[in-house]
This record gives sequence, C-alpha cells and structure tokens, in this order.
Amino acid sequence: MQWLIDLLMLFFPSNCLVCGKRLHAPGDILCFICEMEMPRTGFGDFENNPVSKIFWGRVRVSAGTSLFRFEKGSAYQTLLHDLKYRGNRRAGLYLGRLLGQELMNTSLADSDLMVPVPLHRLRLKRRGFNQSELIARGASEITGIPVANHLLKRHSYQHSQTTMNRQERFENMAAAFTLGKNAPDLHEKKILIIDDIITTGATLEACSQVMLSQFKCLVYIATVSYA
Ligand SMILES: [Zn+2]
Repeated sequence: MQWLIDLLMLFFPSNCLVCGKRLHAPGDILCFICEMEMPRTGFGDFENNPVSKIFWGRVRVSAGTSLFRFEKGSAYQTLLHDLKYRGNRRAGLYLGRLLGQELMNTSLADSDLMVPVPLHRLRLKRRGFNQSELIARGASEITGIPVANHLLKRHSYQHSQTTMNRQERFENMAAAFTLGKNAPDLHEKKILIIDDIITTGATLEACSQVMLSQFKCLVYIATVSYA
C-alpha cells in the first residue's frame, strides 16, 4: 500500500501544524516530535483535578479531564484555531483520537454515550461542522463509545458574551440547552460530554444541568484543551 500512500501524499501534501515540517503519512496533523512534546495535562480522571474542581459547588459532574493545556500564543494554538475557524476536519478527528487514547487509560473508557456540546443551528450552518462532534467522532474511533449527536439542542445564538457581566452570562447560558426530541432514556447511564476547550466551564455546566435534572445519571466531562 506504500504506493497509494505516496500517491496521496503527492496530491495532498501536508505539513505539521505546529512546526511546519513536511509530514510523511496522509491523515497526520503533527510530526512525531510535536506530538511527543504536546503540553499534556496528565489530569487523568481524578475527582480532584483542576477540571473536576471547576464544577465543585456548581453542578454534580462526577469528574472531568482535559488532554492538553491551552496557552495563548503557543504553537499548539494553531491546532485549535485550524479546527475551529479554518474548518480543518482532519485536525478535529486527529485531536479526538488523541483524546480517545487518553480516555482509554481512565475509568471513562466504559462510558455509555459521548455527547458533543452542540452548536446553534445557524452557527452550524455558517461553520459547516461542529468541532466538538468531530472530536467525539475521533474519540469514538478509539474507545468504541457511541456518539449521541442530537441529544442536546442549543437555543441561544449569541455573537459574543463579552459585553455581559458574570451573572448575565450565567443566566444566558443556563437557558441555552434543552434535551432534543426523541432523546433516549438516560437513567443509570454514564454520560461523557465532549467539548474542544474548557475555560469557565459555563457551557459544560449548562449541558450537565440539563441531563442531571431530567435523569438519574452520571455526567463526566472531557475536553481537548484546558485554558
Ligand atoms: Zn512538528
């Protein structure tokens, strides 16, 4: 099959998104060195890691984890930027597979469902894809956990929340999600919510709240990056 790979590389050459070095296998996004040097958090799924702690006193998230640390201006910012704003689907699937490998070493590997944080339908139309869904699909390839893509529905469509204060942001976000039509029974299920990045945790808190208020279930969080 090497001839096929060579042929593909001829038509679709690619470079490492972090250092720019020419890559040798189709589907790769980072070179070996950059992948090795990725600023991984090493959080695992501990109930008292910094991601889990974000939700303490806010919502009953059992545990959370993130794959790598997001630093503004770092070379790895390109990865998320390419995924989110330049529509690099391969970057989404690739990051999802890395997250999936990480999840396999945790107790989250036996989750029943992965639920990507949804985009509002207008934003989805404009962007053409949901980055969280791509990540979930990549992670599912590795873990075998099914992706429930239409379980949550996003209602509010805000260009920016930067003009709101903390309380307004919270209220805006709390009303943003509901269960989708035909949502399955999630009683006793272990649900893993997937997103690209966690900062304040407001979005993930709102998603968790929707499921915990309707079902007696366990909710976990996994994101690619932690800011
Ligand atoms: Zn590189």
